[in-house]
Amino acid sequence: MRKIFSFSAVVAMVAIAFAANAVQVGNIVVKRGVVDTVYRAKHVVVGMADPGAQFTVNGKSVKAYKTGTWGIELQLVPGENNIKIEDNAGSATFKVFYSTTPKPVKRDLAREAAMAEKAKFYPTSLKVSTKKYSYLNYGAGTDRLGGAKINYLSQGIELYADAENQNLYRVRLSGNRHAYIPKSQVEVIGKVAPDFDFMQDNVVLSESSSVYNAGDCDRVSIGVGGKKPYIVKEYTNPHKIVIDLYGVQCNSNWLTHKTGLKSVDNIDVESIDSDVTRFTVYLKTKSSWGFSVDYKGNNLVLDIKHVPAQLYLKNLTIGIDAGHGGPESNGAVGLSGLKEKDMNLDMAYQLKDILEKQGAKVVLSRSEDVGMSIRERQDKFIENKVDIAISIHCNAGGGPLSSLGTSTYYRYNVYKSLTEDILGYLMQMEGVNNFGMVGNFNFSLSAITDFPCVLVETLFISSLAEEEKLADAQFRRAMMENVAKGLVDYIKECRVAEGQAKK
Ligand SMILES: [Zn+2]
Repeated sequence: MRKIFSFSAVVAMVAIAFAANAVQVGNIVVKRGVVDTVYRAKHVVVGMADPGAQFTVNGKSVKAYKTGTWGIELQLVPGENNIKIEDNAGSATFKVFYSTTPKPVKRDLAREAAMAEKAKFYPTSLKVSTKKYSYLNYGAGTDRLGGAKINYLSQGIELYADAENQNLYRVRLSGNRHAYIPKSQVEVIGKVAPDFDFMQDNVVLSESSSVYNAGDCDRVSIGVGGKKPYIVKEYTNPHKIVIDLYGVQCNSNWLTHKTGLKSVDNIDVESIDSDVTRFTVYLKTKSSWGFSVDYKGNNLVLDIKHVPAQLYLKNLTIGIDAGHGGPESNGAVGLSGLKEKDMNLDMAYQLKDILEKQGAKVVLSRSEDVGMSIRERQDKFIENKVDIAISIHCNAGGGPLSSLGTSTYYRYNVYKSLTEDILGYLMQMEGVNNFGMVGNFNFSLSAITDFPCVLVETLFISSLAEEEKLADAQFRRAMMENVAKGLVDYIKECRVAEGQAKK
């Protein structure tokens, strides 16, 4: 009996939904909001019509945007509500039931089980070796952009996995510290021997180290008795880069400082645990132009890029990244069908044009509608030695009738002012709200330390009003002019801070 009832209920719902989807008056079509039961008094109805068309919904005047989209928020009464769309040519009505009982909670049991999963411990640790582009995560947590990353790791570092959690290995870095690494980023090379003692057998010694001017960077070469994992972080005030080497006991009694250093003031070493050694690289510079870390043999090599000698836009190479692309990745799509990938590419070209007119060299990550992984984008920027990278996207979320505005994102604190300068100009634009500036953002391109990187989420393409703005070529041009202004301001600030100019 119960079964028959629920079957017929499903049939009835499908029939209503099918009939309701056809709500249309002439060219006015309802796209969202035709549902039989809702649990909120505020109900949003959106649709398409001829651009600029005027009509009424429940007697309230509605005007379609230039993109042809329209939307209205209605206040429902408990029980059945008639929603009537009307213009000179005729009308159409559909019903929405507002239920004041709480919305039934749809539980995703599979996801709940995955979230509740605890690490499964191995009786014997696995030996794993890092692949190219591997990175460490702090924990087993995750979100839309993946777990919170610590940093990327060099290839061929051996780690000991003592547990697994979903698609992650828990790896032991030192006696007191664990991290997580995606299983796909390591190769399993064996198991530890039965008599393996982590505190004895894992530990190597740090050795003599040096710093010298290597042409376009200052190079810190740290002698380590084996390829060991590291956690690296750049700080401001004072400007320094700190590398903690795990499974490494401090034995560095010889830190050679060559003459002619441009970025590095001095390096220092200390033991912060019996099997963790910290190298601190104090920097002379105020601004950061990126660094890379990699093992060359058993030496951990930290290359710190020199500040460009003449800090003017015309002397710099700017990487511009148009987010998404290709048939697999449209990005967000607006109600009118406007695709984020197309807007991003157009704005990338606009920005390229603006910057090139001011003498800059520009490298685009993608120059047409093709799919491209973050790694391909990063590699292209590194190969072309970009000085600064700007990634252009459109945002989505928050409902079609809200105008949340523009926002900029950085991962590393050293690039906060670049992000701030660009946002400062964008939010001065008429009708553009400030969605805010976000730090420590887990965007993969911003996680690279090789060059400064800022992510610009221009506007919300999911917002009807903001989609209309994005659809306007002149508006997109104006947005990119403001991005360029912010960039120029940032370069000037660096020029002054580095003592290359008085103001
Ligand atoms: Zn995007």
